[in-house]
Amino acid sequence: MATSLQGNCQGVGLPLQTWTAHQNLLSGPSPKIISFKICNTNGIILCILYGADILPILQVLLIFAKEDNQSDGFWWACDRAGYRCNIARTPESALECFLDKHQEIIVIDHRSSRYFDAEAICRSIRATKPSEHTVILAVVPPNDLFHVFSITACYNELIQLEHGEVQSQFKLRACNSVFTALDQCQEAIEITSEDHVIQNRRKDSIDIKSITSRSSDAPSLQNRRYSSMARIHSMTIEAPITKVINIINAAQENSPVTVAEALDRVLEILRTTELYSPQLGTKDEDPHTSDLVGGLMTDGLRRLSGNEYVFSKNMNQSHSHLSVPIAINDVPPCIAQLLDNEESWDFNIFELEAVTNKRPLVYLGLKVFTRFGVSEFLNCSEATVRAWFQVIEANYHSSNAYHNSTHAADVLHATAFFLGKERVKGSLDHLDEVAALIAATIHDVDHPGRTNSFLCNAGSELAVLYNDTAVLESHHTALAFQLTAKDNKCNIFKNIDRNHYRTLRQAVIDMVLATEMTKHFEHVNKFVNSINKSMSEGSDCDCTANVKNFPDNQTLIKRMMIKCADVANPCRPLELCIEWAGRISEEYFAQTDEEKRQGLPVVMPVFDRNTCSIPKSQISFIDYFITDMFDAWDAFAHLPVLMQHLANNYKHWKMLDELKCKSLRLPSENNN
Ligand code: AMP
Ligand code: ZN
Repeated sequence: MATSLQGNCQGVGLPLQTWTAHQNLLSGPSPKIISFKICNTNGIILCILYGADILPILQVLLIFAKEDNQSDGFWWACDRAGYRCNIARTPESALECFLDKHQEIIVIDHRSSRYFDAEAICRSIRATKPSEHTVILAVVPPNDLFHVFSITACYNELIQLEHGEVQSQFKLRACNSVFTALDQCQEAIEITSEDHVIQNRRKDSIDIKSITSRSSDAPSLQNRRYSSMARIHSMTIEAPITKVINIINAAQENSPVTVAEALDRVLEILRTTELYSPQLGTKDEDPHTSDLVGGLMTDGLRRLSGNEYVFSKNMNQSHSHLSVPIAINDVPPCIAQLLDNEESWDFNIFELEAVTNKRPLVYLGLKVFTRFGVSEFLNCSEATVRAWFQVIEANYHSSNAYHNSTHAADVLHATAFFLGKERVKGSLDHLDEVAALIAATIHDVDHPGRTNSFLCNAGSELAVLYNDTAVLESHHTALAFQLTAKDNKCNIFKNIDRNHYRTLRQAVIDMVLATEMTKHFEHVNKFVNSINKSMSEGSDCDCTANVKNFPDNQTLIKRMMIKCADVANPCRPLELCIEWAGRISEEYFAQTDEEKRQGLPVVMPVFDRNTCSIPKSQISFIDYFITDMFDAWDAFAHLPVLMQHLANNYKHWKMLDELKCKSLRLPSENNN
């Protein structure tokens, strides 16, 4: 039995007309094309044409002016062979019938010229496109070339034609159709062998709209479905990722199989939604890393119901004890003296915390905002800035071991330090500087000392409000803007015009949201891919110009800057680093205690005060979150002092770990 290429395209929404040619294709043993798939650019198979032992029903047109033995003989022979047969009596009806049915075989009566001119009919049929693959057989007078005289003879004649010329024509038509399809198809095409081994892969483009327009006039479900498909493929608004995928698809064409396969793997990765979340490899065997990653990078999907976490509503607190006005000039001498060293990376924020009675933010903030001309930019008085700092600082929880206003002051300090670096300064505008300083100040306001995961697991009000998504970061930002606008006395934005305010607000929101750790790898990788790469390709001034002229690049720098400032504690001088490690560990321990008390899932089991190895947790934190990020940031901003501290601190934790010490220092040092 001959093999035909049989399309199942009807079931997948391709226009019938385009593919009818494929449906009756014959191939002998020679064509390698046994089946082919047509996939869209997402790899979804739209159409599979495959080899099948199904022979289409042949159609025969008999052109005989009068019924006689001869025409009857062919009629009965067709019937016996299972062909469909039509008879036409006139040249006009013959042409009409052929144009309607496209018969594979035409038998034309050429025995006499009394009723019609057989050659003229033959010419008129041959002039039509569908006749290209039609076999025309002429019945001539007896004793001529051949003489058909019986049903059996007619039958044999037709069967021979079927297996000879007609089959050849089918093969030709098959090849034509396949090549036309390949030529016109915008989709990815894979030509496979019988056992589905890919023989060839072609990913090219066609105008799928033109196929749609050629599809059947009668609207059908299939056509409607196809139209939607075509619309998707002819989308004029193409997402960048779609463009990337299309470029890779095009590059795969004609590329060697190994390259094409590697690119397939690339496409597979690109099509995932979690492009920036590294898969934990061997590192996940370490519970410190997996706990930190789970605790900081998830929104607590391990939720228990019925546990309500209510945290203090600082917003309602009275701040009367804070409203003692301090002007920059009447800062007590001991504080002023400390602040003299504010521009140094090694500035001791804990000393400031002590001398300010845990109000370091307002003092450091006023000094830093003055240095960067913030009140001039905002066109507001120093008194307004001061009142604003007081309100913001009052909404940090001094009871938190780590996330209190000293942490905010520390992040503000690091941000101001980074803004002083030449490359950073050269890349940003004054508005960006002001936005960064405001963002650093507010970035953890009203932090409850618990992680996002905890709040989600506890079904806290905030988690419900923000749909378990960037809960804390959304709250810090929203609350800060509320607090600012609540009272004119502290509204630092009251004198800037609407457009300025909108731009500034957008920049602040973007930076605070960037501190959310679930997006850590996304921000770091985008920075590396855009900023570090363009640095390595161009000169220094090229790089700064590249950034200055592209707001997107400025955004990446601002995000990276606040992220680094937020977790810069492992890059502080050893003593400060140790103090921060102690504080964050204490906050985590308190969370674990509460989780146990309330029967909530324990998000970071390693942070159990009875068992935790702080050095191990710090090593994991540095390995997983800090090293790569600071390498990238240092490559841009040039921060040798920080990198040296980081190396020293890492050595400290390693040394303690090797000595199996689980605390912040060696016992001997504790006694000092
Ligand atoms: P933020 O809450 O904005 O301060 O985000 C920084 C995240 O990094 C927080 O979840 C901190 O708990 C975490 N983090 C900062 N420093 C350390 C550290 N030394 N060890 C472990 N986690 C840290
Ligand atoms: Zn923070």
